[in-house]
Amino acid sequence: MSSLFPALVGVSVAERSALRFGDRSLTYAELAASAGELAGRLGGARRVAVWATPTLETAVGVVAALLAGVPAVPLNPKSGTGELGHILNDSAPSAILAGPDDELPQAVRGWERLDVDVYGTGAVAEPPPEPAPSAPALIVYTSGTTGPPKGAVIPRRSIAATLDALADAWQWTGDDVLVHGLPLFHVHGLILGILGPLRRGGSVRHLGRFSVEGVTRELNAGATMLFGVPTMYHRLAEAVAENAENAEPAMALGRARLLVSGSAALPVHDHERITAATGRWVIERYGMTETLMNTSVRADGEPRPGTVGVPLPGVDLRLVEEDGTTIASYDTDGTPTGAYDGESVGEIQVRGPNLFTEYLNRPDATAAAFTEDGWFRTGDMAVIDPDGSVRIVGRKATDLIKSGGYKIGAGEIENALLEHPGVREAAVTGEPDADLGERVVAWIVPADPQSPPSADELADHVAHRLAPHKRPRTVHFLESLPRNDMGKILKRELTRD
Ligand code: ATP
Ligand code: MG
Repeated sequence: MSSLFPALVGVSVAERSALRFGDRSLTYAELAASAGELAGRLGGARRVAVWATPTLETAVGVVAALLAGVPAVPLNPKSGTGELGHILNDSAPSAILAGPDDELPQAVRGWERLDVDVYGTGAVAEPPPEPAPSAPALIVYTSGTTGPPKGAVIPRRSIAATLDALADAWQWTGDDVLVHGLPLFHVHGLILGILGPLRRGGSVRHLGRFSVEGVTRELNAGATMLFGVPTMYHRLAEAVAENAENAEPAMALGRARLLVSGSAALPVHDHERITAATGRWVIERYGMTETLMNTSVRADGEPRPGTVGVPLPGVDLRLVEEDGTTIASYDTDGTPTGAYDGESVGEIQVRGPNLFTEYLNRPDATAAAFTEDGWFRTGDMAVIDPDGSVRIVGRKATDLIKSGGYKIGAGEIENALLEHPGVREAAVTGEPDADLGERVVAWIVPADPQSPPSADELADHVAHRLAPHKRPRTVHFLESLPRNDMGKILKRELTRD
């Protein structure tokens, strides 16, 4: 344990605020006591689930499980009955940790419940010997963007490795205070947003629920960093845009040391609006449940809108074509190998200490996810810029459109559409087409539903900015795009009928 969270056993930060959710908070000493007491009650459990509301109870529950060496499975309290049933049956926890006020739905009532008492005063058990670095720490289910969620078994080693690599890329220290508005059942909100600050000895201010006002308030009160998903940065971009009535959010963002975005692509248009209004740029990082973090723009580097930066220390990354040929890897100076043409798209494959061990109960899926020579296939397609920055084109399964002999990435068309003033949200998919193989289809949420731009106007807008063959052939107008709780667009729901 102490090697995962040195601050929790040291005395130097014992009185420092570790976690605050609303008006409830814990110092490092209090967190060590609460989690230590709960860990004593968990001893010997095979695996526990955590009812992951955005509360102190969730954070204490996860830290206690890590202290006790018991693998923890965070559950999304908003999942439907089917998904909860799937995850519980798959992971078969000995108990579900929940806050005393949590009401658990019918779907989980058959499972034993254990209340997390944050301010408990019971005896703190002697911690068990620290598990091996390869021991499972967390089982995190993937977001379910492309299919049913899969349980990724994440060892202790990977958590330490990814958080330390990010500390290097972001110059992240114990002096940082994080504003957090993300859910706690995925890698972003839990590992980066809670375990990250705790590993550094810093502080977390969780908003419960993201709001522009909450971010503004915490940054004004001295918070130094913000982690968010693109839908949050979109709301911030709207709040700081040129015509915004209130100057406070822009001034507050201007004070932040670090604005970090991830979990999905950050539209360039939103990034540019934030930079124009605040003078700050947003650092994009790219990761997955299975790999934790792979790349990031570096805090000590140049702003690179539209890219997810360079491989993190310790991470090997390459681009591979469908036939298995490696088209790009990195030279020791961090630039792509000389043979790479600078524009060919390949699948991102990674290797490194950040990787998961396996998908729970799914040996076939695990085997299929790795190449024969041991690289993990991310399913994400990218190009590498001359300076080594990775530019994600989209997911192999949903974002690569094969049309008229071209391979077209949905992302750049989405970025172009979002630059049109009449477009609020945009998603691009491919649909079967007798002539072209697939044709480009755009799904648009108009800025003003009363007078949406015409399909021709949008197609011309794209054709002028990119190339004629990238113009959407069909445009659908919607009231909103289907998204999951991380704000990721569920393209399979767009293409379904
Ligand atoms: P599932 O695997 O269940 O279909 P998912 O892939 O969305 O769901 P996660 O592991 O939460 O589940 O998400 C990882 C994926 O998110 C990556 O493979 C990538 O497609 C996307 N992603 C993460 N960060 C970025 C980013 N900065 N830019 C673009 N895409 C990103
Ligand atoms: Mg995935």
